[in-house]
Amino acid sequence: MTEGTIFKIKKYALHDGPGIRTTVFLKGCPLSCRWCHNPEGIDPRPQTIWRRTSSGRIDETVGTVMGVDALINAIEKDVLFYDESGGGVTFSGGEPLSQPHFLEALLASCNHREIHAALDTSGFAPTAVLDRIIPRLQLILFDLKIMDDRQHQRYTGVSNRIILENLQRIAGSRTPVRIRIPLIPGISDGDDNIGKILRFAGTLETIQGVDLLPFHRIGSEKYRRLGMTDLTAETLLPGSERVAAIQTRFESAGFAVSIGG
Ligand code: SF4
Repeated sequence: MTEGTIFKIKKYALHDGPGIRTTVFLKGCPLSCRWCHNPEGIDPRPQTIWRRTSSGRIDETVGTVMGVDALINAIEKDVLFYDESGGGVTFSGGEPLSQPHFLEALLASCNHREIHAALDTSGFAPTAVLDRIIPRLQLILFDLKIMDDRQHQRYTGVSNRIILENLQRIAGSRTPVRIRIPLIPGISDGDDNIGKILRFAGTLETIQGVDLLPFHRIGSEKYRRLGMTDLTAETLLPGSERVAAIQTRFESAGFAVSIGG
């Protein structure tokens, strides 16, 4: 039986694709972004996280190994909501493509049940994996972070070369894509980076829209509770005027834009 490791199932999600959705977060990510608000999604294995209670501090485990059937049963419970709202399931993370066999089996099951399936991805994965996964998807939410490769390596830990190649490949497959751009002051929100993303996105015909994701501090407490160094410690919050200016730039270029996904 195919199994994988997940760290959260979010029901009634409204920002991870159309309609009412269940978002499943798969554990494990090869990147280490300075703005990551899901640090429990980086390590592929279950790990200990502490939580404060009225009687003191207790340790819990974040990350559960699940079989495909059990997870699909949980997803299928809300199929009426998906059907009535045009929703479905979104696989997120971490990086879901880092568990390719598990993800492929889950998607095959969703396809069989005609449940709309979306993938939220950094795009950092072998092309062969992507080629197996793309035909099973109805929507891809693709993170585009930093266009300069050296800067990308500095702030995420990996090169963007395969990411950009993969996005071009997906565009060629004609599967609908929404580009998601994390807005991190001084890192990804500069005029130069935004201009390069605009030019790149303008060459891809299957872009349905752009989600601007302003950085927030929701995840910083989790780093401490996991015993990890807080990657976001020096990351600044974006101002609303800057976010609005970037939104206007994308809209002027003809893209449908939403803030926060
Ligand atoms: S790609 Fe996503 S999950 Fe992975 S480190 Fe970056 S923000 Fe976190």
